[in-house]
Order: sequence, then C-alpha cells, then structure tokens
Amino acid sequence: MTRQCRVSDHAERLIVPGIPTSVPITVAHGDGIGPEIMRAALEILTEAGARLDVEEVEIGEAVYLRGHSSGIEPEAWESLRRTRVFLKAPITTPQGGGFKSLNVTVRKTLGLYANIRPCVAYAPFVPTRHPGMDVVVVRENEEDLYGGIEHRQTDEVSQCLKLISRPGSERICRYAFEYARRHGRSRVTCFTKDNIMKLTDGLFHQVFDQVAGDYPDITSEHWIVDIGAAKMTDTPENFDVVVMPNLYGDILSDIGAQIAGSVGMAGSANIGDGVAMFEAIHGSAPRRAGRDVANPSGLLLGAVMMLVHIGQGDVATTVHNAWLAALEAGAATYDIAGPGRAPLGTRDFAKAVMAHLGQCPERLPAVDYPVIARQELPAPAPVARAKKALDGVDVFLHAPNARPDDLAVALLSAAGQGWLRLQMITNRGVKVWPDGFPETFCTDHWRARFTAPYPGAAAHSHILQLLHRLYRAGFDFIKTEGLYRFDDQPGYSLGQGQ
Ligand code: NAD
Repeated sequence: MTRQCRVSDHAERLIVPGIPTSVPITVAHGDGIGPEIMRAALEILTEAGARLDVEEVEIGEAVYLRGHSSGIEPEAWESLRRTRVFLKAPITTPQGGGFKSLNVTVRKTLGLYANIRPCVAYAPFVPTRHPGMDVVVVRENEEDLYGGIEHRQTDEVSQCLKLISRPGSERICRYAFEYARRHGRSRVTCFTKDNIMKLTDGLFHQVFDQVAGDYPDITSEHWIVDIGAAKMTDTPENFDVVVMPNLYGDILSDIGAQIAGSVGMAGSANIGDGVAMFEAIHGSAPRRAGRDVANPSGLLLGAVMMLVHIGQGDVATTVHNAWLAALEAGAATYDIAGPGRAPLGTRDFAKAVMAHLGQCPERLPAVDYPVIARQELPAPAPVARAKKALDGVDVFLHAPNARPDDLAVALLSAAGQGWLRLQMITNRGVKVWPDGFPETFCTDHWRARFTAPYPGAAAHSHILQLLHRLYRAGFDFIKTEGLYRFDDQPGYSLGQGQ
C-alpha cells in the first residue's frame, strides 16, 4: 500500500517570491513514440499542478525533410531564446547524408555543457540485476569527438578530431561536484583514457583533480574508462556521481539506464548557463510508435528535472513520488513489466501515475526536491597564457603503396638542406622510420615529423619553406600540425601510441 504524502508541505511552497506563477517553456512532441509519451507526461504535469505556459514547436523528421539540415526551424530557435527551457520528445533522424544531429546542434548552439543522466534501479518493482543501483552520469556535452570535425584524408583513412578544453573540462567537473554536494552525494568518480590519450583525456583528468581539491567533503577518484566501465556495469552500487568526457558519457549513460531497468526509464537534463533542455535518454523507437505501448517514464523524469530547474520543486516532488507509488502499485509498461505481469499502455500508465498524485512510495525512497535548486557556477578560471614556441611540424601525407625507407629517402631529398629536418615517420601512429619493423601494417596515410635543430627554434616561415619543397617534389600533403611547446613542455605526443 502507498501512503499519503504530507501534501501540505508542498502546498505551502507553491508560491515562491520572485518566481512567476506560470513559467513559459518550449515543448516539442518529436517523432515516433514522441507525441504519445509527451502527451502522457504533460497530462501528468498539468494534473499535478505544474505552473507552465507551453509554447509548442515542431522539430524532427518532417522539418529535416522540408530542407532544414538540423531538423529545427528559425521560429523554434526564437521560442527557445524566449523561454530558455526546452522539454523535448525524441525525434527520428532521417537516414542518409546531409542531416545533422538535432540534439548535438541544440546542445552546442545553446551551450548546454552539462548532461545529467540519473540511472536508478527500482527493485523489486522493475526487474534489474542491480537492485542497489543509484548512479548519476554527468557527461560533458559539447566537446570531445562530438565536434563533428571529420575529414576523409586519403583513399584509406578518415579522421575525427577530439577536442578537449581546459574551461570545458573545468565547467563539467565543477558541475559534477556541485551536483554531488547539493544532492547529498558523497563520491565523484572520473572516467578517462589518459593512459593512451595523455594530452586530451590527460587534461580532463588533471582538471578533475584540481577541481576536486575545492571539495574536500566529497570523495574523488579516477578510473581508466575501460576498467571503470566494467566495474560500473558489474557493481554499480559502488558508484555515485560519475563524470566523463562526451563519448564515454554517452555510451555509459545508456548502459547505466539499461542495467538499472530500461532505457525507457531514464530522463536527462542538458544544462547551460542560459538555456536548459530536458528529455528522455532514449530515441523515437519507431517500431513502437502509434501503438500506445511506450513507457513515458524517461520523459516524465526529464520533466521532473525541468520542474526543479524552473523552481517548481514542489510539483516535481509530487510527480516523482506519485510515479514511484504507481510503480509500487504494479503499474508497468511492456519494457518493465517482467514475466507474469500484464503491461499497461502509455495512456493507462499515465492514468495510474495521476491516480497516485499526493501519495508517497512505501518501499522505494521518496524524493523531496528543494523549491530552488538552480546551480549558479562560477565562470571557469582564466587560463594563464603560456610561453609558446615552435619545435617543428608534423606533415601528413597521402602516399599510396609507399614503403617507409623509400618514403624517408624521398622526404630527406625533398627537404634538402632546409632548417627543418626529418625526424621520424609513422603510419597510424606507429613508428616505421627509422628502425621500423617489417611486420607493421601500413596504409596510404603517413605522418612525417620535421623538427628544428633545437627546441623552440622553428618558425612558420620554416614550415612554409618545407611545404614548398615538398610540393615541388610532388608530395600530396593533406594536413599539418604545429609542434608547439608551452612553458618549455612539449604540447604534442612524442612517439607512437600504445
Ligand atoms: P531507441 O532508443 O529509439 O529505441 C531502441 C529500443 O529501445 C526500441 O526499439 C524499444 O524496444 C526500446 N525503447 C526505447 N524507448 C522506449 C520507451 N520509451 N518505452 C519502451 N521501450 C523503449 O533507439 P533507436 O531505435 O536506435 O533509434 C530510433 C531513432 O531515434 C533514430 O532515428 C535515432 O536517430 C533517434 N534517436 C533520437 C534521440 C533523441 O531524439 N534524443 C536519441 C537517440 C536516438
């Protein structure tokens, strides 16, 4: 049996000085199961007394097919700028080239740098192998491999640039610690792969350690992402708040949500300084669309985070507790019903939640959100400008069917008596000259490293001279990277990867 919540607590907090009674939000119904779960979520919010002034916009497949490559029209941007709060149902990205991810576009355009994805088990009411799981994944949302900076460089090789910034890392790490502090959590774990990506993931890890120093009340730890991910999926109860760069966070939050119970159960908040977007973590599940079977819980829990964000923690508490009470009473859609239980459709599930408004769960922990929980974070510390000097250049070449020693002879000859001298050649990061191994598999994509006779002694003019010599010798250089040192420390990897 469920019990009545002390609703009066919430009622007392309904009017908060300084907070408008009705908050404008932008709502998009999306594609596939989107309209069904959005309808269900909005019905529950309205019934619970959410004070919302809804502006509807269209996004997704139809907008893409009308020729908007990001799936969103100018009027929708205007609405988002006006309301600064976006409740978004999942959309379908059309197959084929030329379509950009709407989510990535919205996150990056509006600076939604923090993606918060709680992954919680609701055992025994939702089947899971990890009954004690309560992990919040805090994912960096703008950087890493999601910059969309990709190039096909040769017949055989394409590249994607991974960009990690110090301010970006600082903001997300600080967000994770602030989140932990405000939500009564005691541990923040960072996942990176800095044993391999020493400069990019290394920077993220270094900034994490620095930020952790400001939060002595919170335990901090770092795991290499592969073993960390294995541990998190095996014993998630040992993790609390987990912060990581974009790609790892994307993957691990889906895994986290699924092993907690279902991807259909997880909500997600995308937070920026000005605007915030709330959604379910799952997609538009087109195969389930129009059948009244989808689980609206992920979107509903995203909406709960939205209510907290806009200062309606009272309604968020009411909705979340009603949802927990409904789960305890046996309400379940097909994805969480487990064997021997008749699943409810989307609409009936929503009705079950509404029937429990004002009630608290008996066995699952009840929630109690603060009325105002918006996190105002300090701006990232200004980055001190280092003394920067140039050691040389990596020149990337498209050279089909080349052999390392022959390539070296040709490059040495082309570079001649220039200031920059050939130091090494690698293929896919493995050194093949000098002292290469005949067993190393080589593609048509080569990196030739040229350096000045002593550190810091190169200049852009030397690079231009070198490129001109290579051009005259017929080399197809596809890209260059300057080899800079910052305060006398090399800002580039020295040899081959591991
Ligand atoms: P998906 O998350 O849409 O669905 C995968 C499977 O998970 C479904 O077949 C279904 O079995 C289950 N599932 C997902 N949500 C559920 C729910 N609420 N209730 C019950 N079961 C649920 O992933 P997909 O099939 O890979 O992607 C479908 C489309 O969604 C693609 O076009 C993709 O680009 C898009 N997508 C959109 C978003 C977004 O808008 N935020 C996110 C991911 C994928």
